[in-house]
Amino acid sequence: MSVDNIGIRSEALIKQVLSYDKSSYAQYLRKAILFSQKAHELQMRNSGEPFFHHPLEVAKILADMKLDSLSIIVALLHDTVEDTNITLQKISSQFSDKVAELVDGVTKIGKISRKSQEVVQAENLRKFIIAMSKDIRVLIVKLADRLHNMRTLEHISSIDKRNKISLETLEIYAPLAERIGMQKIKNELQDLAFSNLYSDVRSSIKTRMNLLKENDQSLIDKIIFELSTLMEKHSLKCKIVGREKSPYSIWSKMKRKSINFEQLSDVIAFRIVVSNIDNCYRVLGLIHTHYHSIPGSFKDFISTPKKNGYKSLHTIVIGPELYKIEVQIRTQDMNKISEIGVAAHWCYKQGAEELEKNKYNWIAELLQILETSSDSSELLENTKLEMYYDQVFCFTPKGQVIALPKGACVIDFAYAVHSDIGDSCVGAKVNSRPIPLKTMLENGDQVEIITNKNHKPPATWEKFVTTGKALSAIRKQLRKGMLNEYINLGRVIVSQILEQHKMKFSEDTLRDTVDFFHKPNVDSLLAAVGEGHVSQDQIIKRLIPEKHQSVINRKFSLFKPNKKNKTGSKISIKGLIPGLAVHFAPCCNPIPGDSIVGIQQTGKGITVHVLDCEILQNYSSTPEKWLDITWDKNPEKDIYKAIINAVVLNKPGSLAMLAVEVAKLDANVTNFKIMSRSKDFFEILVDLEVKGLNHLTNIITILRTKSCIQSACRYIRDE
Ligand code: MN
Repeated sequence: MSVDNIGIRSEALIKQVLSYDKSSYAQYLRKAILFSQKAHELQMRNSGEPFFHHPLEVAKILADMKLDSLSIIVALLHDTVEDTNITLQKISSQFSDKVAELVDGVTKIGKISRKSQEVVQAENLRKFIIAMSKDIRVLIVKLADRLHNMRTLEHISSIDKRNKISLETLEIYAPLAERIGMQKIKNELQDLAFSNLYSDVRSSIKTRMNLLKENDQSLIDKIIFELSTLMEKHSLKCKIVGREKSPYSIWSKMKRKSINFEQLSDVIAFRIVVSNIDNCYRVLGLIHTHYHSIPGSFKDFISTPKKNGYKSLHTIVIGPELYKIEVQIRTQDMNKISEIGVAAHWCYKQGAEELEKNKYNWIAELLQILETSSDSSELLENTKLEMYYDQVFCFTPKGQVIALPKGACVIDFAYAVHSDIGDSCVGAKVNSRPIPLKTMLENGDQVEIITNKNHKPPATWEKFVTTGKALSAIRKQLRKGMLNEYINLGRVIVSQILEQHKMKFSEDTLRDTVDFFHKPNVDSLLAAVGEGHVSQDQIIKRLIPEKHQSVINRKFSLFKPNKKNKTGSKISIKGLIPGLAVHFAPCCNPIPGDSIVGIQQTGKGITVHVLDCEILQNYSSTPEKWLDITWDKNPEKDIYKAIINAVVLNKPGSLAMLAVEVAKLDANVTNFKIMSRSKDFFEILVDLEVKGLNHLTNIITILRTKSCIQSACRYIRDE
């Protein structure tokens, strides 16, 4: 962009903002442009353009949403403090304290992602949240900043860096955008990140979508026509559009439930926009009287808006031409809010205060966690969890309403009622039926918790819970119970060493060793071993000096202790002696990326299962055998077995096509097994060699987009 061009774009921006905002800040617009341009004068972006292009574009994104001049000024200045020698004091004196405060907020959010491995994050995050809760425009500017950076991601040459930014966008920024209702920005952020991370998958889904749409275009027109006619007949003025769902949302749905997208309702939603709320319900009435609605599909977000302010009616009906369609009914205002969320309140210049106070309780919840957490990594984890989800509302048997984030399980519910209930929870009934504790709750579930006061939460619960409250409480209990676990693990490890050398575990055998390490008794020695303070090598050296040499050379390091988790898994199993071998359970074939758990079996070693393997139920009464392990970042082995169950059209070339697609994704088919065969379909099991979970997921996703493949999913044996 040439300098002149910058001038023209700057003038256009000023004109655009002045067209809707003539408040006192508007007079600073030109000053902010000149100030920022001067500050960034000597800088270039990766694309080779003058740096000022970036703040100008960020401001433009916000101007398109008709945000107030203050937000636009902050957008223009947002990188000056971080990237140039401009100080906050200077911004204060040149503009105002308010401008400086918001710029500071944006700068701090930026620092957090840059230094996310350091301890300073807790303090920064706290400031960030406080700044945000004082004025959510900080977050809005940051989101626009990230959006422009994602739009220009291609100019970053390092793939690793692009992927890190994309992941962070998916995990932090897109959910934040969703949380404050900025659907449009959320969608674009997700799509850009998705297309950077998994461009093959995205284009496959796109192709399939286009094919479906092509086939169905006349159908889409027919449906719109029939709906419009119905509305006209009842004198209801409205606008009806068919809205395409995003490839990313289709992909996440496919990942969440193992489904294919084969129907119009998977790809298109029909949106009816009317003039007022009354008409929303009238339209809904008409639709429900003319078409069969799918039970349970109706959602009234007008009387109960989503936490982010989203309002609309949703329903799924067997619509025109007997096609299943999703219909969203809303007013123009609601439509605007659905696109830009909380930002809409600065366009309309009203209700902003009320909005901040009432609708953003999650910020208060966040602050509460910030106050009570001591450990910064725990804090970040909790915070991330809290921000991620929408809510489900469940009931106690007495009718008390418990609000939980979506995805929460029975254990979360128990902890939400009371931490003692959570700790002593041994069973549960949902809607009067007994169910496993890790069952995810749904809106309206009535949950009865069965307790036993001697029960202690097992470490595995950490994997099932979603709420920060449950996680902190479980960890607190785990810290308490940790000493015993260390002793148990130490005992297994020491027994193993002794058994290997035909010795028996006894106080006597260990007495010398206990003294040598200055421990008061066997248990404290075992605890020290379990905790890793005394290494296996040291023990072997002490107990079996003559064997020591041959043993230490045969360490393995497939797994490493989970460092994120300070209490649950500080158990070092790195360097275990040979014989205590690691086996991959043949029932579930774990692959890197799966959440895994080790089952320690004396004499047999550790069997690694996928966390939701059915077989694990056999070990539910012996939590001491469970070993919390994670994948080594750099495993020596990089090929893992996985099995796919696929239903394929019975026609020439179908199987070859499957094999070709798998090969294209750099995976190896090692076995085919035909499970059943009918006139139209084959059901087959395909044994594959894959590199990890993402690899497998991408293979399955791409297979599902192929027309000759009816279904494909990962296969886990249940016997
Ligand atoms: Mn920036």
